[in-house]
Amino acid sequence: MFKILQKTLSTGTVTVNYPAQPARISDRFRGRPSFDFEKWKDARPAAEVCPTGAISLSDKGDSRRVTVDYGLCVFCGLCAEASSDQAVHITQEFELATAERSNLVLTAEYALNADRIHDGLRRVDRHVVKAETDVESLGQKARGTIHKILGRSLAIREVDAGSCNGCELEIVALNNPIYDIERFGIHFVASPRHADMLLVSGPVTRNMELALLKTHRAMAEPKVVVAVGACGISGGIFGENYASLGGVDKVLPVDVYIPGCPPRPQALLQGILLALGRLAERLHNDRAG
Ligand code: SF4
Repeated sequence: MFKILQKTLSTGTVTVNYPAQPARISDRFRGRPSFDFEKWKDARPAAEVCPTGAISLSDKGDSRRVTVDYGLCVFCGLCAEASSDQAVHITQEFELATAERSNLVLTAEYALNADRIHDGLRRVDRHVVKAETDVESLGQKARGTIHKILGRSLAIREVDAGSCNGCELEIVALNNPIYDIERFGIHFVASPRHADMLLVSGPVTRNMELALLKTHRAMAEPKVVVAVGACGISGGIFGENYASLGGVDKVLPVDVYIPGCPPRPQALLQGILLALGRLAERLHNDRAG
């Protein structure tokens, strides 16, 4: 007992101060790929190696439409390696959670020359790709906000609808002393009847569809649904097939999408805080109406 106490005192505080302070990230961490559309001479090598189809091309006559979907991206970095024109590089950005699925999609249109190489950028649509909310102030206010809107802690029920468990490892990390999500007044519960938020990882497998629907139905109103990771958003590497229905929004209305494969704990926290804002809106509307 004395030894444990001694170790605890000598270790000191290990909890990170995210989001009040920026996340400390290892040099080897891979975040979202970034695309320099002006510089991009040929999207074909990147599209060919992309394992999930996050980069897709559609050629019509002398024009090419390039679509990049961060909801499918697993941050593998293969597109950056395949693009010899240095137009694609991997960043360390991970705060990509959004309430709108369309915010995760970029499109660009190019004129093509006779060799099917880009011959000028005609148009580019860049929505995304920055934190949709002020995470820092949301984080600072989280405890007060949770208490104000709920009068108690925020309760989350997590459902693995068919994931590889990569997302679960990161979700579990939220409860360790480093990320310590309970400091915000947020905790995970076993029963959906006690939950305000449903956090779903994995593509929705056909075997888990009914369990997921029943879990959602068992939750009291108002409630919010958060889709975790590339699989939760779109089916990811598994896609849609005989065993998988694809993303969570194929089955349930999703309030917040958290990209990544898997999203790191701070990315999950950002998404949860964003969803908390949605829950507050819903509660406010319920009380007003
Ligand atoms: S980083 Fe994303 S877009 Fe690039 S190849 Fe991997 S999955 Fe595709």
